[in-house]
Amino acid sequence: MTVLVKGAGVAGLATALELARRGIAVEVVERRADIGLGASHWAGGMLAPYCEREAAEEIVLTSGLAAADWWDEAVPGLVQRRGTLVLANPRDLADLKRFATRTRGHRWLGADEIAELEPDLKGCFGTGLFFSEEAHLHPRQALRGLYEAARRLGVSFRFGEEADEAVGYSTTVDCRGPQAIGEIEGLRGVRGEMLYLETGDVALSRPVRLLHPRHPLYIVPRGNGLFMLGATMIETDDDGPITARSMMELLNTAYALHPAFAEARIVETGTGIRPAFPDNVPRLIDTSEGLAVAGMHRHGFLLAPALAREAAERLTKLDASERRRTA
Ligand SMILES: Cc1cc2nc3c(=O)[nH]c(=O)nc-3n(C[C@H](O)[C@H](O)[C@H](O)COP(=O)(O)OP(=O)(O)OC[C@H]3O[C@@H](n4cnc5c(N)ncnc54)[C@H](O)[C@@H]3O)c2cc1C
Repeated sequence: MTVLVKGAGVAGLATALELARRGIAVEVVERRADIGLGASHWAGGMLAPYCEREAAEEIVLTSGLAAADWWDEAVPGLVQRRGTLVLANPRDLADLKRFATRTRGHRWLGADEIAELEPDLKGCFGTGLFFSEEAHLHPRQALRGLYEAARRLGVSFRFGEEADEAVGYSTTVDCRGPQAIGEIEGLRGVRGEMLYLETGDVALSRPVRLLHPRHPLYIVPRGNGLFMLGATMIETDDDGPITARSMMELLNTAYALHPAFAEARIVETGTGIRPAFPDNVPRLIDTSEGLAVAGMHRHGFLLAPALAREAAERLTKLDASERRRTA
């Protein structure tokens, strides 16, 4: 059996790797010139199942718990297990309390403990929540690592081609992300704008979320003075450039977290479309050609491991029954 995986974003690469681990022949066809240039390119790389539970279903938490271990095995040395810090300005304390009641896996911190975790935030915040079990990774390095791991297991790749016809393959896994909107029932786009800031004046060791009644945002440190600042959540599949309003909201957040961000250089901006179902829960869908790993929403890096495993297990059973039939 040879499986066609359509799309080399996080869903496609994770699925290809899981299939190859089970000894199934895989070809990935990607319409762009390289891996990971779709929604996955813009991700924060947070593996934050407890924080995400604030607005997501319980299954996002339970399925996401194993993600950090999966990534550690697939791409050793990349996952940083330093937790997530959630903060709010004093006037938004009610939002922090609400966040605490809607989540678990955290403890309350006072000003001294915040300063111990993040010395550069000393004196900036009086109270916060710490989710010590959470992790993060550099998404672009993670995708490169997945690609290399899949290649080592014999997965072949074709770039610069639309994977439309599935002729010559036993079955197909559709991992086209937002390109499947309009074809998979219920799938919609949720626009996420982000930017990269560079400064030597602030250092952070972990993702920090800053709660706000209208625009709760986060900053993820990438090392070497680089910070990913994200992300808006706008109900549209328009992937045009970042708007002035979103840019202002994002920069206000950075400034509210630490005034030194005012002097940071903006080195990159971007917009990704998160493919999402009405309940925002990613899932496997049966299609006329096989399966789709779809609707990854805010959780592509968190949930691709669980869904890729599930897809590979289903196709392994199919492979076994096909072998029995032809034996
Ligand atoms: C700003 C932002 C921040 C985010 N932060 C996080 C985070 O911190 N943690 C987290 O877990 N998730 C995060 N996400 C969500 C995550 O990025 C997405 O859920 C995930 O990238 C979706 O992956 P995908 O593989 O389904 O889609 P994509 O990454 O878009 O991949 C689909 C691929 O299919 C290719 N393709 C499409 N059509 C065809 C075709 N016909 N033939 C061949 N190839 C095709 C595309 O070129 C693309 O490479 C974030 C998203 C955004 C936008």
